[in-house]
Amino acid sequence: MPASAAPAPTNNLDAFWMPFTPNRQYKAAPRMLVSAKDMHYRAADGHEVLDGAAGLWCVNAGHGREKIVEAVQRQVAELDFAPAFNMGHPKAFEFASRLSALAPRGLDHVFFANSGSESVDTALKIALAYHRARGDAGRTRLIGRERAYHGVGFGGLSVGGMVANRKAFGLGLNGVDHLRHTHDPARNAFSRGLPEHGAELADDLERLVALHDASTIAAVIVEPVSGSTGVLPPPKGYLERLRAICDRHGILLIFDEVITGFGRLGAAFASELFGVTPDIMTTAKAITNGVVPMGAAFASSKIYDAFMTGPEHVIELFHGYTYSGHPMACAAGLATLDIYQEEGLFERAAVMGARLADGLHALKGLPHVIDIRTVGLVGAVELEPIDGAPSRRAYAAFARAFDDGLLLRTTGDTIALSPPLIISEAQVDELVGKLADVLKAID
Ligand code: PLP
Repeated sequence: MPASAAPAPTNNLDAFWMPFTPNRQYKAAPRMLVSAKDMHYRAADGHEVLDGAAGLWCVNAGHGREKIVEAVQRQVAELDFAPAFNMGHPKAFEFASRLSALAPRGLDHVFFANSGSESVDTALKIALAYHRARGDAGRTRLIGRERAYHGVGFGGLSVGGMVANRKAFGLGLNGVDHLRHTHDPARNAFSRGLPEHGAELADDLERLVALHDASTIAAVIVEPVSGSTGVLPPPKGYLERLRAICDRHGILLIFDEVITGFGRLGAAFASELFGVTPDIMTTAKAITNGVVPMGAAFASSKIYDAFMTGPEHVIELFHGYTYSGHPMACAAGLATLDIYQEEGLFERAAVMGARLADGLHALKGLPHVIDIRTVGLVGAVELEPIDGAPSRRAYAAFARAFDDGLLLRTTGDTIALSPPLIISEAQVDELVGKLADVLKAID
């Protein structure tokens, strides 16, 4: 072919190795999204799909927000990239200041990454390096929890507790142990908000302290509400108890707020809602409304200050990413925070969350439904698995709902709902109505 002749356009679906997707099944019947506005996606065949998942838990302000679009366009024209190593640009400092003002009190320092997975790895590394900086280098053990998801880096994978996510990749990090998970359908099925039973499961940390000795443990990481493993709100009192045990033993507490951050639960962060402040907090997703990839780990002044003690010419934390504090992400993030605040979206999430909870709990008794869980603007409907074919039933619900104009997220046999916080009352009702129809229609 002569160099000047452009190759014929191809749309070889096999070239894109899709993440977390059964590639062959998808490519046999692809489901393409081609545009999005406010609460809706448009599919390639032209049908509209109500976004019941905020994309992937990230589009909290809704799709196609002009303020964000314009901010990103202006930014790319003005300053497309600036290194963050020994350099800076004003929006990174401004964004970090705005974020620290929004964060729970004391979490004043923001380390930028590009995803939730990177935020988690950053947080774990900060925890390890913090103890070393204080001369307590024996604290190297990290504690996660069963049924947790902390992304796909080796750090997040190791402290995570999603079995399928771990089993293909070998041993992971050394020196990691896990708390028992808190999910207890026998005592807590169909809970609205935080389940009554299970605060005592936090004492499992005392078991690990007794086993390993506190002097070897750097940090405990938990999601305040586990999302990707089925929407598992913490039992009442659990997080407080975990905080107290960490304090008793000098262990850092990390909250992974990649899903729960930025209003999802009806407050800026879960830690604010639950009144428990971690030492480090990880975020991503809705930090930029999902428009530009970004993650951020927030650290307390106690931690930051512990690093700021050696000679001034020495890098205090030997860690960072080419795209830390990327100008486009910061511009998108600043515009996103403006929208959240101007439109009162976190407060709105609390109001719409109550309506969603009313609607979902009324689905009890529909075919296959074995549990319903709700907290903030998040809901989960768990279906009885088909014998020998786990997740098949929830996948059928997802596929049917998409055809009927509703985007759901499923994990295992749980349907998770987390619409953008701009959702209207009528759209909450529409979402619940469509879901009810789907549940009645599937086998
Ligand atoms: N942590 C939690 C709690 C998450 O839910 C996720 C993603 O869903 C991650 C970390 C990983 O984020 P990312 O996919 O941006 O790497």
